[in-house]
Amino acid sequence: LDAPEMMPTLPPKGGVMKARLSANENPYGPSPKALKAISEAASDGFLYPFSYAGQLQKMIAEQEGVQPEQILLAPGSGSLLTAAAIHYSHIKPGGSIISADPTYESLMRAAVQHGAKWEKVPLTANDYDHNLAEMEKRVGDNTSLMYVNNPNNPTGVTIDPVALRAFVDRVSAKKPVFVDEAYIHYTSDPKKFTVIENVKKGQDVLVARTFSKIYGMAGLRLGYLVGQPDTLKAISKWGGGPGGLTMTTLRAALACYQDDEFIKYSLSKGLEAREFLYQTLKTNGYTYLPSGTNFVLFPIRMKGEDFVSRMMDQGVSIRQWKFDGQYWCRVSLGTMPQMQAFAEGLKVIS
Ligand code: PLP
Repeated sequence: LDAPEMMPTLPPKGGVMKARLSANENPYGPSPKALKAISEAASDGFLYPFSYAGQLQKMIAEQEGVQPEQILLAPGSGSLLTAAAIHYSHIKPGGSIISADPTYESLMRAAVQHGAKWEKVPLTANDYDHNLAEMEKRVGDNTSLMYVNNPNNPTGVTIDPVALRAFVDRVSAKKPVFVDEAYIHYTSDPKKFTVIENVKKGQDVLVARTFSKIYGMAGLRLGYLVGQPDTLKAISKWGGGPGGLTMTTLRAALACYQDDEFIKYSLSKGLEAREFLYQTLKTNGYTYLPSGTNFVLFPIRMKGEDFVSRMMDQGVSIRQWKFDGQYWCRVSLGTMPQMQAFAEGLKVIS
């Protein structure tokens, strides 16, 4: 819960919160089928839900083309990032985790609390992509894990799929690789960009997925890891498994996981907002990083803290970063009225 993503967003003093665009949530979920399943499941809440966890594990495994033992469920992928962090910090005390910088920090922060070191490799200079060549060079005896977030939070940048799969082929032969694919559904072709193919080849790689983004279930808490059975078993000592899952969330997930119509709808609404955001930024003279996610990062012309508080005065919450000698704003994709509120706020403060 110490991840920046989880920080509460306070409404403006005495003002009205028009748009919460700071936590990469998806206002189009949960899907109608998930909502119906939740209301039906609620009255079964007195029953332990383990059989539903088994069903979902099987459903995900079938869709991804792996065995059910290759899926580890948990209340949110965040808890799996933490469980993996603890596992790798324990099996190699004082070992280091290599990641891009900036990236989603949860796993490394948890690992550092368990004695691991964190080796940060800056993003490439011009396109703010993972510097795979440099990350690979850093792999050594003391490496305990390679963490890759694709597409990356907070930049939104997607890694070239051919380069990433080849990188995973080589690095996983030496050290375990963890690829966090929380936003993969917002890329142009999730099947092309995922490294689940590497898992299928038996490589030492873990893929994290979540129901918090395209499925709009951030508050219902569900995520999973895809990996090798022995690794998942070892990680599950620290988190994940059916114990923390609820009847309502599991039944919602079973109802929407393969609801292609809803996924298409959710994606199309996101893409509509992303296109509007790109146009808004262009109109106001801003550049931005092309995004494969449900948020967009762009360089701003004032101190990040000032930008956040001035946007908050307009009733819009966003997040700011500082890297590469530059302040940046990250805006999550909301509904069109929320994006409109962002556009109006930006115009006022620019
Ligand atoms: N991974 C990335 C890259 C994220 O951005 C987030 C949340 O925003 C998570 C993991 C955790 O998501 P959850 O715990 O909701 O599955």
